Amino acid sequence: MDHFLYRDGVLHAEDVPLTEIAAEVGTPFYCYSTATLTRHFRLFDEALEGTDHLVCYAMKAASNQAILTTLAALGAGMDVVSGGEYARAKAAGVPGERIVFSGVGKTRAEIADALEGGIRQFNVESEPELAVISAVASGMGVTAPVTIRVNPDVDAKTHAKISTGKSENKFGIPIARAREVYAEAAALPGIEVVGIDVHIGSQLTDLEPYRLAYEKVADLTRALRADGHDIRRLDLGGGLGIPYERSNSAPPLPVEYGALVKEVLGDLGCELEIEPGRLIAGNAGVLVSEVIYLKSGEGRDFLILDAAMNDLIRPAMYDAWHDIVPVREPAPGVETAPYDIVGPVCESGDTFAKARPMPPLGAGDLVAFRSAGAYGAVMASEYNSRPLVPEVMVKGDQFAVIRARPTYDEILKRDTLPPWL
Ligand SMILES: *Cc1c(COP(=O)(O)O)cnc(C)c1O
Repeated sequence: MDHFLYRDGVLHAEDVPLTEIAAEVGTPFYCYSTATLTRHFRLFDEALEGTDHLVCYAMKAASNQAILTTLAALGAGMDVVSGGEYARAKAAGVPGERIVFSGVGKTRAEIADALEGGIRQFNVESEPELAVISAVASGMGVTAPVTIRVNPDVDAKTHAKISTGKSENKFGIPIARAREVYAEAAALPGIEVVGIDVHIGSQLTDLEPYRLAYEKVADLTRALRADGHDIRRLDLGGGLGIPYERSNSAPPLPVEYGALVKEVLGDLGCELEIEPGRLIAGNAGVLVSEVIYLKSGEGRDFLILDAAMNDLIRPAMYDAWHDIVPVREPAPGVETAPYDIVGPVCESGDTFAKARPMPPLGAGDLVAFRSAGAYGAVMASEYNSRPLVPEVMVKGDQFAVIRARPTYDEILKRDTLPPWL
């Protein structure tokens, strides 16, 4: 459920007509709904009710300071994957003890900054990383809390580019080697082992891979405790899918996911962390764009939009399907026709949809890409020197620009000429 609904014939974000934002901000732009963000965070929080838990928003999904500040005020922790994200989390007022640091390539500088500013734990992905964290922490005279990410070798049955829990993926250490690596970790100076981390992929539409993975984590918890490790925290990653296609069977709900977590891991007495990204931000955002041209082709018509693959790369990169709807509500029963919906970038990959049935549309009409809140604006670029797409946040009947569109002048000023030119 989200808060983008037609009202008086116009698609609204909460109580604000998207046409009103378009008139003021120009297109294309991303628009987020505070009520939807809040609702989705609470769904997870409530799903784990009755357990000692922390919902750490995986901010790589959408990391605007306004989104982070909104979630932080609800008590969210943050899952960060870079020094830049750590800085964003801190700037949004998230205390270090609510920030977990994931990612396979943490640098010495990033590790040192996080130890300096405070960190709940590092989710360690490899033995070389463990050695570096030990060295950096020891050098600073501090102790780094760590979990070790184990790769449970389960098939998440999702898109290859977002599947992370198979043994051939680059993530974590093989679960079969976990006891050995935990023994190594426990012997290292500057390291305190606090728990286990697992994350098997993104956009999961089935609970079964989670069950398989979490059963392995439960077994491992018992084995590591028997080896003398104080396993007191389980970080369960993220990955719950969202319904991009409304007609498709619905992915599991957070409450169903929570029930599974409690069933499989609830009796271990561990503090539980989950790291949802997509499910919190995905349906909380839309990308609004204007039709520049309606071009008739042979056997098909093209809707050429002012948004392009540089603004929303998911269709080009993951073959992702987004619901694309007219901002002005079509008359009931109006006939649809198939359109190829494309952007202006000089690549055939700049195609959002092929032969998509749409009501009649023409130049000047606005369309909205639904479910664009996650992995949308954060993956945008200025390819083709198209200004970085702006972001807008709505709360009730108010809206505000939370990242402005840069002017050409601002874009040009970022380049500097070498002294010989
Ligand atoms: C990407 C990622 C997440 C969030 O995944 P979603 O599918 O957006 O929920 C959580 N944890 C880790 C370690 C990740 O890499």
